[in-house]
Amino acid sequence: MKWTAEAEAEIRKVPFFVRKKVRHRVENEARAGGKSVVGLAEVNSTRTRFLKGMASEVKGYQLDVCFGPGGCPHRAGDTRRLMERLESLLRKADLLSFLKKQVNGPLKFHHEFRVTLAECPNACSQPQIKDFGIIAAVPPKLTDVDCTRCGACRKACPDDAIALPEDAAQPVIHPERCLSCGRCVWACPSGTLAERCRGYKILLGGKLGRHPRLASEIPGLFSEDEVVIVLEACIDFYKKNSRNGRRFADLLTPQVFKSFSDTFGKASS
Ligand code: SF4
Ligand code: SF4
Ligand code: SF4
Repeated sequence: MKWTAEAEAEIRKVPFFVRKKVRHRVENEARAGGKSVVGLAEVNSTRTRFLKGMASEVKGYQLDVCFGPGGCPHRAGDTRRLMERLESLLRKADLLSFLKKQVNGPLKFHHEFRVTLAECPNACSQPQIKDFGIIAAVPPKLTDVDCTRCGACRKACPDDAIALPEDAAQPVIHPERCLSCGRCVWACPSGTLAERCRGYKILLGGKLGRHPRLASEIPGLFSEDEVVIVLEACIDFYKKNSRNGRRFADLLTPQVFKSFSDTFGKASS
């Protein structure tokens, strides 16, 4: 649907964490009203209704994914099944009832437990500032196939994490720089590089607001099943310990994070 320049400017004033929702609703309401173009009047009327009814829009959690499933060429995994499992787990956890008991006054979006999935280390859905962030990863490995020294892997790597030393028959991967995006593997025409595995990184306890903090990563790469298990443990912890709408990130002291890390972390990724 087309938007006028004034309408676009107005929607940009809506806080980013609800902007997508408001935009979607503006379009739906404009369509229902027989409009084919969204103007300032449509934005204002929908925004007023949306903000007034914010408490009824809160569902206790937010779950989203980056734009990967829309066809991004960088995606390091198909996350549809995992997303379904996360949605089902979050729905069953009934965080809305929990928050209603815990929070005095109307519920706001900032009370919600936030989970996001990024389909590659570019992390467009910002897992670093969510309660529970997930990043798809494909670490590379060297095979026995001879390297032709074409240089495609080095060119594909955005992190300068792969080298082709003059005196070496195979490339050298620098693990401390490698983010496991998989691009070198897909670029390699000979099969010298292959996927070591497919998995997910897990980040806990990020948030914005008055006391922002970046999430911390649990060491290791995790399977779909393991991601679901760790999220379940985080929600259990959150429900046992959060009072008055306190965010998961605020509960995640260094000791608590260490305990999650000791329980679920793996020696190497
Ligand atoms: S996180 Fe990666 S896969 Fe997802 S939209 Fe960004 S670049 Fe694409
Ligand atoms: S997986 Fe990504 S970051 Fe790692 S070496 Fe390959 S291209 Fe570079
Ligand atoms: S892309 Fe493959 S064949 Fe080409 S230099 Fe890299 S490892 Fe060797």
